[in-house]
Amino acid sequence: MATTQYESVPELAGEAPARAGTVVMKFGGTSVADVERIKAVAGRLVGAREAGNRVVAVLSAMGDTTDELVRLAHETSPRPVPRELDMLISVGERVSCALAAMAIHDLGHEAISLTGSQAGIVTDTVHGKAKIVDVRARRIHEALDADRIVLVAGFQGVSTDFDVTTLGRGGSNLTAVALAAALGADACEMYTDVEGVFTADPRIVPGARKLHAVSYEEMLELAAGGAKVLQLRSVEFARSHGVKLHVRSSFSDADGTWIREEDERMLEKAIISGVTHTLEEAVYRVEGAKPSELFQALAEAGASVDTIIQTGPEIVFSAPLSDTAEVTRTLDGLDVDWSSREDLGKVSLVGAGMKTHPGIAGRTFSTLAELGIEPQIVNTSPIKIACFVPLGDVERAVAALHDAFELHTEEAMRAHD
Ligand code: ADP
Ligand code: ASP
Ligand code: MG
Repeated sequence: MATTQYESVPELAGEAPARAGTVVMKFGGTSVADVERIKAVAGRLVGAREAGNRVVAVLSAMGDTTDELVRLAHETSPRPVPRELDMLISVGERVSCALAAMAIHDLGHEAISLTGSQAGIVTDTVHGKAKIVDVRARRIHEALDADRIVLVAGFQGVSTDFDVTTLGRGGSNLTAVALAAALGADACEMYTDVEGVFTADPRIVPGARKLHAVSYEEMLELAAGGAKVLQLRSVEFARSHGVKLHVRSSFSDADGTWIREEDERMLEKAIISGVTHTLEEAVYRVEGAKPSELFQALAEAGASVDTIIQTGPEIVFSAPLSDTAEVTRTLDGLDVDWSSREDLGKVSLVGAGMKTHPGIAGRTFSTLAELGIEPQIVNTSPIKIACFVPLGDVERAVAALHDAFELHTEEAMRAHD
């Protein structure tokens, strides 16, 4: 058994029929890192409004604000109370939105900033990684009808118990996609600090190419594999609700990467879309557990499990390092023998063309073998091969696979008209 688990996504009561001219534009932390950049974002939003669109912007916290707030919490308390942690870390996005609204007013346009709660983002009660259960967009519609640019604080909502919740790291992506679905927006524009989704993290592989188009399934695997340019949950939501995503640079007008349903044009030029990696997963080995009980308990504890491999009485699974406390508590609470290791990284090769092209696994393993790298755990899906290798080998493995599958070439970009 080897599976990748994705969570289910809700029906949205507020989901609207496509309403021409509504755009949702999301700006990440680097794009709003200082006052000058916030003014530049304001200018871009005004430009979209003047082009005739109903404009909804979702902003992240400025620069490293969220990391700083998390650090502050842990300096104050070894185990911050989850409710209060959410009250604290949701603040950053409000700052960006209020400042951007001020800058838009100075440009002669009407704007209003809203918290997640004011914007009608309703979630369950799980602090730190709440799920959106509904979007009640009445207030946003009213503001748009009044000719305002609407700025929504990303990454947060209000729970069914009326508490502030956050949606997990990178959660502003999810806010944007949920709003795009609920408002029937034409597309969800994700402005970030790179020009799109690349064939590998451009900070690790300088020869990486910007992809023109990626299918939802590929993007799910790329995000699960560590391409943090889009939060995994936001891609699931986009796929379930048919929201087209456009990942692009906030520092240029260039076209970025489109994430949408698969079509042959994506595949005719390149069978592989990219190589991703993550250094932030722990691998657990458990003996004597019933899979049903184990994974039920982990789900109840709110841990996100990725790779699962079962051979006989032994179960191996991986989970993000950020969930270590939940996993440890759960395993300690069950009557099982278990161990964990944090010395492995995951390198994933992803491509929709794998479904129809044999030989990809062979080339992957021989490329790693030439470097003297023996994968410790391997997990595959029809469009992915993921290998856990020693942390110190991750970057070499990514670079070698990128080369072996010729991802530095023009074809890899999947450009077409
Ligand atoms: P934002 O603040 O805009 O949400 P993030 O920092 O969360 O942006 O994500 C963008 C970063 O994702 C890029 O700076 C890049 O280093 C990293 N990244 C990792 N893998 C990829 C990839 N395959 N394509 C593009 N960016 C990637
Ligand atoms: N500010 C939050 C984070 O850093 C949410 C986001 O930027 O998407 O994770
Ligand atoms: Mg992000």
